Amino acid sequence: MAVNGTGPYDPQNVFARILRGELPCKKVYEDEYALAFHDIAPKAPVHVLVIPKGPFVSFADFSSKGTEAEITGFTRAVGKVARDLKLEAPGYRLLSNVGVAGGQEVPHFHVHLFGGRALGAMLPG
Ligand code: 5GP
Repeated sequence: MAVNGTGPYDPQNVFARILRGELPCKKVYEDEYALAFHDIAPKAPVHVLVIPKGPFVSFADFSSKGTEAEITGFTRAVGKVARDLKLEAPGYRLLSNVGVAGGQEVPHFHVHLFGGRALGAMLPG
């Protein structure tokens, strides 16, 4: 079910629980600013989620309230994960759903990183 990307942060959301270690994840990378882990229902041979460590609901929230260090640190982490997964040369796709129209389901900002095959059209239809 899609969520509001601009509402208050819910500390019980599933990614907050993963960050606190209350739920497991298949970790790919972690640093001060970001955690990356495999999506539980992958839509491509590589489907990794990268999330910031801070309590941001969506890209809308992160881009307006994140500090320079958080935004830089997160962005660099996304690039490093793609590099470490050897996705740079073949290419990959980044995607972030925001709010109801965007189809966002988990109300903690995350970037999907897809790769491992030719990904085709940007949107279905
Ligand atoms: P959204 O629609 O919010 O952009 O995508 C949320 C993503 O989180 C979905 O691709 C979904 O499969 C993934 N997801 C939901 N719950 C979990 C979980 O508990 N663990 C992991 N690793 N991924 C999850």
